[in-house]
Amino acid sequence: MSWLSELARPEIRALRAYEHAVWEPGMTRLHANELPWRAPSDASQEGLNRYPEPHPHALSAALADFYGVPAEQLLVGRGSDEAIDLLVRSYCRAGQDAVLICPPTFGMYAVAARIQGAQVIEQPLQREQNWAPDMPALRAAALASRQLRLIFLCSPNNPTGNRLDGGEILALARALEGRALVIVDEAYVEFADAPSLIGQVASTPGLVVLRTLSKAHGLAGARCGVAIAQQEIIALLRKVIQPYAITQLTIEAVMAALTPEARSRTAERIATLRAERARLATALAATGGVQRVWPSEANFLLVDFDHAGAALERTHRAQLLVRDLRGARALGEALRISVGSPEQNDRLLASLAGRA
Ligand code: PMP
Repeated sequence: MSWLSELARPEIRALRAYEHAVWEPGMTRLHANELPWRAPSDASQEGLNRYPEPHPHALSAALADFYGVPAEQLLVGRGSDEAIDLLVRSYCRAGQDAVLICPPTFGMYAVAARIQGAQVIEQPLQREQNWAPDMPALRAAALASRQLRLIFLCSPNNPTGNRLDGGEILALARALEGRALVIVDEAYVEFADAPSLIGQVASTPGLVVLRTLSKAHGLAGARCGVAIAQQEIIALLRKVIQPYAITQLTIEAVMAALTPEARSRTAERIATLRAERARLATALAATGGVQRVWPSEANFLLVDFDHAGAALERTHRAQLLVRDLRGARALGEALRISVGSPEQNDRLLASLAGRA
């Protein structure tokens, strides 16, 4: 057992995973108290009257192949949200351990930590440095805490859109070997200008990379994301995730998204989205009432307005929802706007210009 397990909660290290019903697809299933007939509305391939595979091997293998890692280094969950939750539950003892986050960032890291009763240490991103983290300060804060177990970094970051420096992330993970895991949430990396850090997982023991099918692959409704990490970490998370977490409908939807045809369609859409992001950013910057459009490597733009409330009223009147970030620390009069289809982006621009 290495430090990757020693860092985890002792109860989780000692846990014996739930023993689910035998999975023998070739045999007739009279062992799981299912109905022998499909529901009248059931249009799935395998039939929703049957439980799905408890830990879906073919899906894990297909995703491992897609992301270029061995299947033992990948855990499939209900979105990356579930991977975040599993990491916090597996590594943080309530009332004792801590996670470190860099606000403004994705809210689920702190929520998952608070649900688990873990302390949340904050090391804010630097607004004046295009939201880059202060790496020396982050490293010092991490080394100063005996309770720290997990550091969550989001790259490109939600809601600021900037990508973090990959070399700095790896250096941090190496500096914290034996002390904390560094989790890089790459939910938006497909829209970015630099590749994923997945290729560094094998040589960086404390590095965990989160990916999702919800964004570039257009499967937010299917709820599927993965954690990629050393086998020892994945083995712990596998004990904690519920059996049958991934529904049959999700398995089928994701397998279909990984075919060569679907992949090339996804690549086209990413290219379209990136072009629309550039168009929208330029047009927004020239729109009255807009103070600043932050550079983004994700599929959204963080926009500072003179009066975000007035901009919100205009978009609402045009039946467009955008994210109000005025409550978030360091953000001020900011809205987060997802890049839509060309027609949706035109409607957004028209509404903000008072033409809709
Ligand atoms: N990470 C980030 C940075 C996100 O913005 C989101 C969703 N908004 C998630 C994770 C959750 O994604 P999923 O649908 O995979 O749970």
